[in-house]
Order: sequence, then C-alpha cells, then structure tokens
Amino acid sequence: MSVNSLEALDRNHWVHPVASWAGHEKRGVTIMKSARGAFVTDADGHELIDGFAGLWCVNVGYGHESIVQAAAAQMRELPYATGYFSFGSEPAIRLAARLAELTPGDLNHIYFSLGGSDAVDSALRLIRYYYNVTGRPAKKQIISLERGYHGSSSTGAGVTALPAFHLHFDLPAEGQHYIASPYPYRNPAGSDDAAVIAASVAALRAKVEEIGADNVAAFFCEPVQGSGGVVVPPRGWLKAMRETARELDILFVADEVITGFGRTGPMFACEAEDVVPDMMTMAKGLTSGYAPLGALAISERVYRAIADNAPAGSPIGHGYTYSGHPVSAAVGLEVLRLYTEGGILANGQRAGAHFERKLAELADHPLVGEVRARGLLAGIELVADKATKEKLPREARLSEHLFARGYANGVIFRAFADDIIGLAPPLCCSESEIDLIVARLRQTLDDMLAIPEIKAAL
Ligand code: PMP
Repeated sequence: MSVNSLEALDRNHWVHPVASWAGHEKRGVTIMKSARGAFVTDADGHELIDGFAGLWCVNVGYGHESIVQAAAAQMRELPYATGYFSFGSEPAIRLAARLAELTPGDLNHIYFSLGGSDAVDSALRLIRYYYNVTGRPAKKQIISLERGYHGSSSTGAGVTALPAFHLHFDLPAEGQHYIASPYPYRNPAGSDDAAVIAASVAALRAKVEEIGADNVAAFFCEPVQGSGGVVVPPRGWLKAMRETARELDILFVADEVITGFGRTGPMFACEAEDVVPDMMTMAKGLTSGYAPLGALAISERVYRAIADNAPAGSPIGHGYTYSGHPVSAAVGLEVLRLYTEGGILANGQRAGAHFERKLAELADHPLVGEVRARGLLAGIELVADKATKEKLPREARLSEHLFARGYANGVIFRAFADDIIGLAPPLCCSESEIDLIVARLRQTLDDMLAIPEIKAAL
C-alpha cells in the first residue's frame, strides 16, 4: 500500500496513544518500515539511528533472528495457553523462574502482565489485597514522586505525576499523594548529593506523618525517573528511600520498567545499591519490544502473607487472558539469554560508560543547562540562560523544532515538552554508533541556534 493511502487511513481511523488528536490530524503519521541493529528506516526510505530504542524498550537492538525463531517455534507448538486457575506452559514457568533468579533478594514470585501499566496496576491491586487479608484495611494511601511515571491504567495514571496524564481525567484520585522529585538540577535543597537525599527522606517521612502511617500502603518510585525528564537521583538515594519505607512500615515498590534489563548498567538499577524492594515492576527490555510482556516480582514475605491469608477456596480475582502468554514468554527467555550469554548486557555497560563521557562534551553548548546520564539512559535539559536556568518561552517551540530537526539529521530521541531531551540507545550500540548519536545531536542543537524564534529568545 502506498504511503499516502496509509496516511489517509491512519488519519481517519487510528487513535494514537499519548498524542494530541487534533495535532495528529494536522501533522499525520510517521510510518516506520524496517529496522536492524540500532537503525530504523521509515516508509520514505530515510534511515535513522534510534537513540531512544523505540520507546526505551528495544534494548537488544533490532533484527535478532534467534528471537524470531523462538517466537515462531512457540507459535507452532503452542500459541496460547491460559495461566488462569492452575494451567500453564513451559516458557512461562521457565521465564518466571529465570526472573526470580535475576531479580534481587527474595523477589521470588512473578505475576505476568502485558506491559508496564498493567504490571503497576497488578501491584496496586495486590497491595490492597495484601493489607485487607492481613488485617490492616486502613493502609490504602499511595505515595509517589512528582515527575514520576507509572503507566496509564485508571489507577496507575494517578500514581503517575505528570500533568498531561491527570488533566481532564479526574486525577489524582483519592488516596494518591506526591512528594518532590529528587531533581538535583532544580532541587531547592541544592544539587549536593547528601542534601538531595536528605530532602527526599524528610519529605517521605513528613508525608507519611501527615497521612498517618496506619493509612499508608506503599511508596512507588523509578530508580531513575524516565518520562518525567530523565531525573537521575544521586547514588545512595534509592537505598535511603528503601530504608525509610521499611522504617515507616510501608511497602517499597521499585518501578524498573525503563531501568530494568541493563538500561543503567546492571541488570536492574536496584542492584547497584543493594536494594531489595517489596515489589518490582518490569516490562520493555524484558522482551526488548519484540512481543508485549510485563511482570511484577513479589517478595517472599508479601507473597506468603497473601497466599496464607486469602480466603480459602476463593480465587484471587486478578488476571489477564494473556498473563504468561507462551509466545511472549518464549521471546522473553531468548532476550534474557542474549543479555547474558549473548554479551549484550556487558556491551551495554561498555557503551554506557562511553555514552556518559561523550554526552558530557555537550555541556559546553549554549543551549545545554545540564547533561545527566546513568549508563544508556540520559536527559539533556535545555535552557535559555545557563546561569539562571531559565527556560526558553513556549512560543520558541524548542522541543518541536528539536525533534523535527533531529529526525531530518537522522537521529531519534525524545523531546519532552519542557525542553528536556531523553536518550536511551539500544544496549547493542558500538562506540562508533554512540558517537554518531551524539554528533547528530550536537548538529541538531547547533541548528536550533539558527531558528529565528529560538534566536530571538536567547
Ligand atoms: N512504568 C514506567 C517507569 C514506564 O516508563 C512505563 C512506560 N513508559 C510504564 C510504567 C508503563 O508501561 P507500558 O507503557 O508498557 O504500559
């Protein structure tokens, strides 16, 4: 079918996620056609390096034939088996066991979803269940971080603290609370590591005191905040928050949907700080986007309490038709094999160290306020004035120009509305591919300086 016909059909029929519907009608769709390694090609034949790994998910890179083979073999043998009641399939069982092995500490029990939002939703539902069956039904309030993203389900979107996910959706709902993001670049406590950590710990304590510890169920956080503008907390922050949650007797849920599977270096970001959460959500890199799959890892303590206290003979009424889908699970197993035996995790660590060094070189650019990175996850915050950290006015439409120009220059990144560039290259990148991403990004930033409405704002 021709690109023009596809564009027309798209305009008339496909309602795109996280898009301005009216804006999309005007702009039209950008159709991706094929991909290999770290490169994607669109329907016009334009090849780009994917500095965002799809939607921070294609960690192993595109075009792995062994994943195709794993999916095809599973489809041939058994395309579907329910996980409901006590049914199952070999790939889902093996994947649960492998994830229990890879996740930290006693996160030994795996609940499968189709992506991150329903992994978070599963956590939220099971946390309610946990406190109800263990006789503490008042513990229902959830605390999360400003700038946090925890998916788009009805409840999860309220744990998410991004304005576009609340506006006109009647969120936040009752029982959803936020504390300030550990945002060193704009932290009122200053950018000093110890001050940022102390401010977050104090904020969590104060919030729990305000609501009453007997009413608070859990604290949710991303080890590095992704969709909120790639906020990288200081080392030690995650551990301090985990310990504080334990002291306050609230569950600690680490949302590793982006940070999991080598994105920040180790298999999970929690590992770097020896943190064992009560629950951990994951998705994206679990299958590297080759098939939809998410998972919620549950600690031994929480799992046992639910199993032993749930009403005898009554099913725990939470599940999806595709929980533990055998094809997604087979894909997941092969992707996990590629990280370890295939050397992609180790390559990602080397590439991540190189990426951090190369990106730091952009700090001298007149538009760059801050470069922040942990491994292959980075944010570049753009400002009009480096000293005051003042942003460009909205009329300059910097993010829009950035994305369009970057695309023309052959690099894909995320341009957040508040002029923060998000980057998450595939873990399979070579050093020269990392260099290409950074070079095209610098060119794009340079191009911004020639755009009249941006020039006028500087
Ligand atoms: N949690 C985090 C931290 C995420 O980044 C995302 C997706 N960007 C989600 C949850 C939701 O995952 P999904 O889009 O797969 O539902």
